[in-house]
Amino acid sequence: MGSSREAIIDELVLANRILANENVLDAFGHVSLRDPDDPGAFFLSRSRSPGLVEARDIMRFDLEANVLDGDLKPYLETVIHAAIFKARSDVMSVVHHHDPAVLPFAVSPARLRPVFHLGAVAGAEVPVWDSQQEFGDTSLLVSDMAMANSLARAMGSGPAVLLKRHGACCAANSLKQAVFVAICMRDNARLLAEALALGEPSYLTPGEIRAAAAKHDGGAPVERAWEFWASRLEP
Ligand SMILES: [Zn+2]
Repeated sequence: MGSSREAIIDELVLANRILANENVLDAFGHVSLRDPDDPGAFFLSRSRSPGLVEARDIMRFDLEANVLDGDLKPYLETVIHAAIFKARSDVMSVVHHHDPAVLPFAVSPARLRPVFHLGAVAGAEVPVWDSQQEFGDTSLLVSDMAMANSLARAMGSGPAVLLKRHGACCAANSLKQAVFVAICMRDNARLLAEALALGEPSYLTPGEIRAAAAKHDGGAPVERAWEFWASRLEP
């Protein structure tokens, strides 16, 4: 689709840079975008740290994680994106990360629930997927479609899932929303961990979660945050 594909890839590169700059992604982790012109395909960088990703690194895959365009080395965990896109026709973008702020909720009995309004975008309680249950002792990396499909099932229809002893995934109906969910969920995890150390936190009520999530589902607030995060990047 000529220039429109260029614009799409440029936006995905920007998402990589933003998530790295906000420290959700570091040496590892990745963000993908479903091909708007082909729901059976998605764009994702070659195996490279997200803060370094450029347009020429972006490859295209089908929903079994086979390479459609590009001849570079893909991420081992490309299958995560393939499985979530395959399971969820509503999802346009997926983020997988190991942000240390969310990890305590992937290694302890504490549940990740919203304690401030923006945390509502990650759902009422983030489910936890434990690869040990189906796959036993592994490297914890999601390395094949069987593991990735299991992870996608655990995620269900929600915006996020925690990977026990590993990290998290966020999914949304747009690239900007997926970035927004990833950053807000991380901020909520940080706040919740601090609050738990002080006593019983004050969680959002189910009605507050519904209202706050609806208020921050795309539109002006998400555009405003995206513009802010983009402005913080090195020129
Ligand atoms: Zn990972």
